[in-house]
Amino acid sequence: MPSDQLQQIVCCFGQPVAGNPTQYMMEKAFARAGLDWRYLTLEVPPEGLADAVRGLRAMGFQGGNLTIPHKVAVIPLLDRLTPAAEMMGAVNCMIREGDQLVGENTDGKGFVQSLRELLDPAGKKVVLLGAGGAARAVGIETALAGAAQFTVVNRDPGRGETLAKLIQEKTNVPTAFVAWQGDYAPPPDTDVLINCTSIGLNDPSGRVPVDFNTVPQTCVVADVVFNPAETLFLKAAKARGCKALDGLGMLVNQGAIAFRRWTGVEPDTGVMRDAVEEFLEA
Ligand code: NDP
Repeated sequence: MPSDQLQQIVCCFGQPVAGNPTQYMMEKAFARAGLDWRYLTLEVPPEGLADAVRGLRAMGFQGGNLTIPHKVAVIPLLDRLTPAAEMMGAVNCMIREGDQLVGENTDGKGFVQSLRELLDPAGKKVVLLGAGGAARAVGIETALAGAAQFTVVNRDPGRGETLAKLIQEKTNVPTAFVAWQGDYAPPPDTDVLINCTSIGLNDPSGRVPVDFNTVPQTCVVADVVFNPAETLFLKAAKARGCKALDGLGMLVNQGAIAFRRWTGVEPDTGVMRDAVEEFLEA
């Protein structure tokens, strides 16, 4: 491929995840931008992470992504964190700046960017289902975007309470915790309802236990799960008359933020979205 850019490599350290389209999406975006770059997906066990990061530095990679189980464990191996990654205590993206490796978290920023296409979260009441890594990133960034109030709903009370406390302490946005038992009925004044659990991932019949009868039609209902794009949760939201936001936009936007940080070039997000859809349909 003709290119005036030196070849560079970025990578993803993690466990193999069925149906992860990131490599395909990134390589299509590099090609579109005329960059002779490569994106490698590398299986790294927890005990190999420190060596893998040393290798990334030694080989001069431009950066990388991290998936489960490395998002927290990588922190002491980096030179510094961005303020948002520091608040979340989780990193999904590494960027080489000179001889430094910087930890960033692009998941929540990617989510907020897609949410803004339907609604500005400023002043809104948000219900967050789940308290894992995705919920942490989405919660902190939505709070930083000006949300007025949060309710964190989670099956494991310890994890749920920890996330509610984190959002409140780091962002000063009032945050309540509700233990999830049976079908959860969101408050009737909910503006944004977000599924941040893994229910429905690679499982079109996976049902998120929510009673939609109390959800107002003005509520925007979002799912972070991107495979399938139209989850049962989003189908139920549409049947209720709500606007629905799928997890593909978040996936594309978080990748686009990483792409910009690594390359300094604006990616074609249309090409990225097409690549993800093509990958998931194959
Ligand atoms: P974690 O394992 O960290 O957290 C999973 C969460 O789901 C926990 O809160 C867990 O609850 C909850 N959960 C799982 N099964 C059930 C169940 N049967 N009933 C109730 N709660 C349940 O995962 P992540 O946060 O990293 O990922 C969550 C989802 O987000 C995944 O599907 C992932 O693919 C997606 N994601 C999407 C991105 C995108 O760009 N669109 C980016 C990042 C992630 P508990 O604490 O009780 O166990």
